[in-house]
Amino acid sequence: MGGIVGILSYDKIWNISKFLKYSLMGLQHRGYSNTSVAILNEKILKSDSNLAPEDFEINDEGWAGIGYTGSRQNKLYLFDQMAITIDGITKETPEEISKIILKDPENLKNVKGAFSLIALTKEGEIIAYRDDSGLKPLALGGFGFDMGIIASEMTGIIVIGGDFRREIKPGELVLMNKYNIETKQLVEPKSSYCSIEYIYQSRIDSYVNGKPIYDLRIKIGEELAEERKIDADTVIGVPETALPFALGYSRKTGIPMNLGFTRTGSPIRTMLASDDFLKIVGVQLKLNPIKSAVFGQRVILIDDSMVTGTTLKNTVYNLRRLGAKEVHVLIGSPKLISYCPYEVEVPPSNELIAANLSDEEVSRVIGADSIYWLSLEGLYKVIGNKNLCVGCMVGKYPKVI
Ligand code: SF4
Repeated sequence: MGGIVGILSYDKIWNISKFLKYSLMGLQHRGYSNTSVAILNEKILKSDSNLAPEDFEINDEGWAGIGYTGSRQNKLYLFDQMAITIDGITKETPEEISKIILKDPENLKNVKGAFSLIALTKEGEIIAYRDDSGLKPLALGGFGFDMGIIASEMTGIIVIGGDFRREIKPGELVLMNKYNIETKQLVEPKSSYCSIEYIYQSRIDSYVNGKPIYDLRIKIGEELAEERKIDADTVIGVPETALPFALGYSRKTGIPMNLGFTRTGSPIRTMLASDDFLKIVGVQLKLNPIKSAVFGQRVILIDDSMVTGTTLKNTVYNLRRLGAKEVHVLIGSPKLISYCPYEVEVPPSNELIAANLSDEEVSRVIGADSIYWLSLEGLYKVIGNKNLCVGCMVGKYPKVI
């Protein structure tokens, strides 16, 4: 998982380094354990780190730049003529892609994969392309008459005070230089949008593929309420992603919603943590339960997904420790049963709890009174679009390579 950004100022007096850093911070919910930037002044200078954007100080100055934040290392490449960063997978190597761009950026339509990319040439041009599958998002914006911005999600634009203009369409090319921005639809979109983007990957203040994420997540909660009725005293969402699910469930059923947790430190995406110890420590730090909200209560606990079950097991344990009488777990996504080949961190099926255990067994393992996952039909209904990749939920994938 990752977020990419490109910023080009129309006047060389600007130094875009700080804009790039804060824009990457607006994307770090997509993955934050590596940050890379390439900045153009007289030449392109690249720097990498295994820090999140908020901890990474960019020392280079320049009037155009690109950046990457995410869970992978080496996703921003520097060649003689350009720097390039890619969110997703491609059949061609980054170097081959850079040569394709040099020859004619329109030939990007022939690159196979599931990706969005942003390149910065040493002449000061930014080239961006979202492949026709649409599996990876990409948005276009600007900063008044001063800068053009391209980012994985609109949050990379709006957090720095930029204007979000629109999403780049699958199969669309953007060429940006000091004088103008040109866009070209190179191929017809095939549009197999990643359903995980809607469920938990994108930030709640984003629009993805034309859908407002916040509204959509409330609808997921309402759909869960229709699919699964539970006699309980309170609904609690696991922060941050599942809060709108809980709100939707509460509105639909009339069961009051409570804030069950408070957090220590900055958001830690525990499912991205690299080992069990970090996962457990991450849970404790991220989610400190509030005793008075759960003591003696029959709790409906809603989370966005269940991968290995480790995180939820700890969360349920913490609720019980503080006196919750019952804990019923609802998951705002269908069961994850298979890996993601397109660089979203969904591990192989042997690590996915829902692929290996029955519902009763999962309940027992995580210590819950019951467990329920959103149905696939429910997901289609809420998103209102059948052009979805649901590969990790069904084990069949759109063909991209
Ligand atoms: S397999 Fe799952 S995570 Fe991967 S692109 Fe498809 S829906 Fe998204």
